[in-house]
Amino acid sequence: MAAALDRLRQRMRPIVGTETVPLGEAVGRVLAAPLISPRPVPAFDNAAVDGFAFAAASQSADGPTRLALAPGRAAAGHPATTAVPPGQAMQVLTGAVIPAGCDTVAMNEEVVVDADSVTLSGHLRAGSNRRLAGEDVGCGQSLFASGLVLQPLHIGVAAELGLAELSVFRRLRVALLSSGDELTEPGQSLTAGGIYDANRYMLQALLRRLPVTVDDFGILADSAEAVEAAILGAAASHDVVLTSGGASRGLEDHVVRTVERHGRLEFWQIAMKPGRPLAFGRLCDAVTIGLPGNPVAAAVCFLRFARPVIARLAGAAWLEPRAFIVPAAFTLDKKAGRTELLRACLRQAAEGPEALLIRRQGSGILTSLTDADGLVEVAPATTSIRPGDPVRFLSFAELGCC
Ligand code: AMP
Ligand code: MG
Repeated sequence: MAAALDRLRQRMRPIVGTETVPLGEAVGRVLAAPLISPRPVPAFDNAAVDGFAFAAASQSADGPTRLALAPGRAAAGHPATTAVPPGQAMQVLTGAVIPAGCDTVAMNEEVVVDADSVTLSGHLRAGSNRRLAGEDVGCGQSLFASGLVLQPLHIGVAAELGLAELSVFRRLRVALLSSGDELTEPGQSLTAGGIYDANRYMLQALLRRLPVTVDDFGILADSAEAVEAAILGAAASHDVVLTSGGASRGLEDHVVRTVERHGRLEFWQIAMKPGRPLAFGRLCDAVTIGLPGNPVAAAVCFLRFARPVIARLAGAAWLEPRAFIVPAAFTLDKKAGRTELLRACLRQAAEGPEALLIRRQGSGILTSLTDADGLVEVAPATTSIRPGDPVRFLSFAELGCC
């Protein structure tokens, strides 16, 4: 599995152009050029508190300092119109430009004010309660790299810089389809032996968290012609064709065969559980991703493989989930040679969190995912885990699905 991920990481490159979007629409999009600050933030030295500004050098070396009150005041958005001479102080409000002649602000709580003077009880360090121009961001500073998926807090910084729009990658166009004669659209009555199409709804919801647009191609029947026609049509007009089901070598598994026949299949079996059949390919100019039909496998393969691939194709840097190493609160014996991704909860123990497996790990049990907080990823070489052994825990937050 690690080798497959490495291979994808090396091969996948952004395949979409760029566009400019208003800042209010940029959250979740991928930055297409480094964000260089066009100005310093703050733009000017300003008061961090309400109080009185003065020159630190006006303070007496020992004992309280009495400063004459300079006329006027400086408020946020209303700078003082006169300078403050040595030995004087001017009233300032938070966010006001520090008046000329001043470098320090005493908080209201630190001074005694009377009609025409303020008295400082102690000695303030020069620069106290002053926010310096450029202390947050310097002019010309490179802030965010191209490939960053913009989160709400990045939008705040861009707004602070006065940027009304950002250059982002165009949304990747994803065609989404399910395959299987047994599948029925939720809301309709089930035929004998039928099941509802869980994957397409789950995948659509997962894709909503990525910078893509999704076209829903519905459910494909298990017929070579139907699958071929739909996949070829989808590939001609989309950047990615994401399918679930029909991705192995069974009689009615037409997805892989279509990609093989008309495009290039990159690999299709991965030594991992759940999710062995996983097909990446190229068809026309599109990347095809064939997920297993089994909903747990489809979800896990999407989170571990398809999500970083789709995000990368959409311009983002490779999204590798960070693993927390936590002690196991379970016993496991497994076969060597394959990676296992086990659904697990984090339980608060006395020494910190530990990973507890969800009891029912069956790959057909979709609620094992909704009961879990993430996945414990067990390396191929590991054959046994005992309580207290360190394990790699990938939280669903890191995997981008909560
Ligand atoms: P397949 O990969 O097509 O062999 O399907 C493997 C298993 O997953 C079968 O039990 C299918 O019925 C089931 N399955 C396939 N697609 C879906 C889907 N979209 N929603 C729910 N279950 C599915
Ligand atoms: Mg099938």
